Amino acid sequence: MAEEKAGTPQEDCLFCGIVAGRIPATLVRETETTLAFRDINPQAPTHVLVIPKAHHEDAAALAAADPALAADVLCETQAVADDEKLESYRIVFNTGSGAGQTVFHAHAHVIGGRGLQWPPG
Ligand code: 5GP
Ligand code: ZN
Repeated sequence: MAEEKAGTPQEDCLFCGIVAGRIPATLVRETETTLAFRDINPQAPTHVLVIPKAHHEDAAALAAADPALAADVLCETQAVADDEKLESYRIVFNTGSGAGQTVFHAHAHVIGGRGLQWPPG
């Protein structure tokens, strides 16, 4: 299959489906360029995913293709932390299957509301 143009919606992408409204999600924030919704399998009392609406495979591809959009995602993680009144929290971009990435549309996990161990597994 030909490589799609960066940012183009992908038919078979779960998070593009959420952006398009084809797949339901519990939204917590939306901007012109980003969406934030609760993780379906939360690992902490707060577990929100922040995604760019445009499809980019992972955080590295997003930063390379559109640094301003990467900044939008990062700023929205802070807005989520504020909304959820998190004092301590973790922002995670799993990048590559070896690091636990399972959905290949860039996303930041905002995890908080409990004590978090370091180093992670
Ligand atoms: P990754 O493992 O790629 O870093 O994170 C993907 C995240 O997406 C996982 O934490 C997983 O629980 C979450 N997830 C998978 N499918 C769905 C879904 O259909 N809806 C929502 N809200 N989250 C999902
Ligand atoms: Zn996508």
